[in-house]
Amino acid sequence: MSEFAEVVLNLPVDRSFTYRVPAALQDIVRPGVRVKVPFGPREQQGYVVRLADAATFPRIKDLKEAGDEVLADERILELTRWVASRYACSWGEALNAAIPAGVKTKNPGQVIRLIGAGQGEAKTDKQKVALEVARRLTAPLPRAEFLKHTGVSAAVLSAMIKSGLLVETKIRPEIDAMAEALVENPVDIRLTPAQEEALRIVEQGGVILLHGVTGSGKTEVYLRSIARVVAQGKQAIVLVPEIALTPQTVARFKSRFPRVAVLHSVLTQADRARQWRAIRNGEIDVIVGARSAVFAPTRALGIIVLDEEHEAAYKQENDPRYHAREVAVQRAKIEGASVILGSATPSLEALHRAQSGDYRLARLPGRVEGREMPEIEVVDMAAEKQELKRHPVISRRLEQLMTQSMQREEQAILFLNRRGFLTHVSCRRCGWFFSCRRCDVAMTFHRETARAVCHYCYDSQPLPAICPDCGAGTLALYGMGTERIESEIKHLFPGFNVSRMDSDSMKTRDDYRRSLGALWGGETDILVGTQMIAKGLDVPDVTLVGVVSADTAFHIPDFRSSERTFQLITQVAGRTGRGEKGGRVVVQTFYPQHDAIKMAATYDFEGFVRKELELREELGYPPFVSLVRALVQGWNEKRVHEAAKQLGEKLRATFDESKVRVLGPAEPPLYKLKGRTRMHLLLKCPELEPVLPALRRVADSFPSDNNLSVILDVDPINML
Ligand code: ADP
Ligand code: ZN
Ligand code: ZN
Repeated sequence: MSEFAEVVLNLPVDRSFTYRVPAALQDIVRPGVRVKVPFGPREQQGYVVRLADAATFPRIKDLKEAGDEVLADERILELTRWVASRYACSWGEALNAAIPAGVKTKNPGQVIRLIGAGQGEAKTDKQKVALEVARRLTAPLPRAEFLKHTGVSAAVLSAMIKSGLLVETKIRPEIDAMAEALVENPVDIRLTPAQEEALRIVEQGGVILLHGVTGSGKTEVYLRSIARVVAQGKQAIVLVPEIALTPQTVARFKSRFPRVAVLHSVLTQADRARQWRAIRNGEIDVIVGARSAVFAPTRALGIIVLDEEHEAAYKQENDPRYHAREVAVQRAKIEGASVILGSATPSLEALHRAQSGDYRLARLPGRVEGREMPEIEVVDMAAEKQELKRHPVISRRLEQLMTQSMQREEQAILFLNRRGFLTHVSCRRCGWFFSCRRCDVAMTFHRETARAVCHYCYDSQPLPAICPDCGAGTLALYGMGTERIESEIKHLFPGFNVSRMDSDSMKTRDDYRRSLGALWGGETDILVGTQMIAKGLDVPDVTLVGVVSADTAFHIPDFRSSERTFQLITQVAGRTGRGEKGGRVVVQTFYPQHDAIKMAATYDFEGFVRKELELREELGYPPFVSLVRALVQGWNEKRVHEAAKQLGEKLRATFDESKVRVLGPAEPPLYKLKGRTRMHLLLKCPELEPVLPALRRVADSFPSDNNLSVILDVDPINML
């Protein structure tokens, strides 16, 4: 029996603490259980990571409470420890992110453990109270309610169960998420030679980058690889960028495997907790979920699939700022599983590793059954503007093709990466700009609500009648968003059914279902939406896709903007031409000569990658160096500037310039966000691992509180 436990806390403190395990808790305290410990003046939640027979520290406090369920096994402990060191957070924070809230809280909502009276005599006053309550019960009480009712602690309860004074019965409610009807889908597809080859490469293990255009049969390769793993009694994790957007993919997994858990983001904590336990108990073979499903508590992990590997959604934008791809690769290494990274447009990071031999590359060169990729036409909007003497939303060419599609009773999708009606509101007289009071960004006008909305903090305000700055000028609306396109299209194509899909119009899962159903059923003629519609849709009658503006990424200062533009066009093109009727794509841009646009339009992925990699190497950007972004933010503008300057000086003093290049401090594009001032620095490191510990020490030397914080973002994706 170990007398001491090493505990990590869900705090940004980069170390563990040792506590004594009181006798009553000795049976339940194991690595991976949740505990409550005295910490300073308060109590704090933490996780036991190790047991010890001796402690070197003389004044050791007792653990207060312990949960009796192991929430992280040895492998998850190891994985989260790696996450902590790789992404500059604490082990406790990493563990906290890995375990869903529902299983951490005492009351997981759905009752699993029931408490009733047992045999024997109570020894303490607390035990007496608890036992009296228990004996008066007509039926066993849910554990959480029992605790609340009696006021005893979990530790007392556990001790009483152990000594037989109380009896605990466990019941497991059905997982109703699995009760959905299974679609019959006999596996009579004969794999293409390229798919066979990919499958063979997967079989050899390790990390496989599966590169194939949309419709080339990647999902079929995932399904077969998983089937093999499941047949061996192992489990599979399938990660998708955004679960709500992939109902078709989910349906395919459900139709092939009877024991699938889908970790929707809209699940209640209780549902999540039940699924988590079902996975841990080995009742589930295939787990489909977004980013955090990479931590699913499988018993024997065989494979992890990351679909759309290049997606930014795999990076978590708050602590711990991990990237699911990196975590998946590390997890597979720990557990001896394989990984498939699938994409039509792999990230340059993944391609670079495939080229250097860390990953193995499998290619699916064409669409199955020889269907052609649609032709992509680029329309020069600058020329269009000049000829028409106005700024049209839809070019003449796009309008013409849409008319043809409508005449043939086919469907069209228009895509614009910007929500709302018109983007900017500004004064005609003095040029005043309607920007958010708390963020340094333009407000977007939404006509449906007649308000200006900040897309960062969701603050909204009514539109003033006259300029609040000069008190005289009237306000004008500029730019465009999905709402405006929708209204324009309704005007251009009267009598046709136009619908819109963006995060304003899609609030619930039912909204998606309805919209997708209407598109599938052919009721929707023209769909207008943001990039959320760029993936996962597979509708045979969509024969035309228009990218209203391919230029949105160019306006953001980011070294990945070319890559994003290329990916966007390729993904969007994949949404059409999947049926017998073929398809067309029109891309509207003010930069028709830009490499990303030219090369995407000719499907020259290899050419684009070669060029872009050359550029990245020359300028010293990933994948040739690792980046760390240090963000300083706080309420006091002056203090933020001072701290950022100091941080820069300290970093430059710490690191040899030939090893780590420190850029900044500088104002980020979002200089003000939710009322706080922000400054950032960028570190370019040829080698990341040796730099991180020192970097953390420097960052931790700044007081981190509500007024000022220094955030380290390793491998940042969002540079705003
Ligand atoms: P991706 O994931 O690359 O977009 P999918 O695996 O979804 O591609 O395949 C596209 C379509 O082709 C699907 O409807 C799928 O059922 C079908 N398909 C996949 N492989 C084959 C094959 N070998 N023969 C016939 N149809 C196939
Ligand atoms: Zn004005
Ligand atoms: Zn705001």
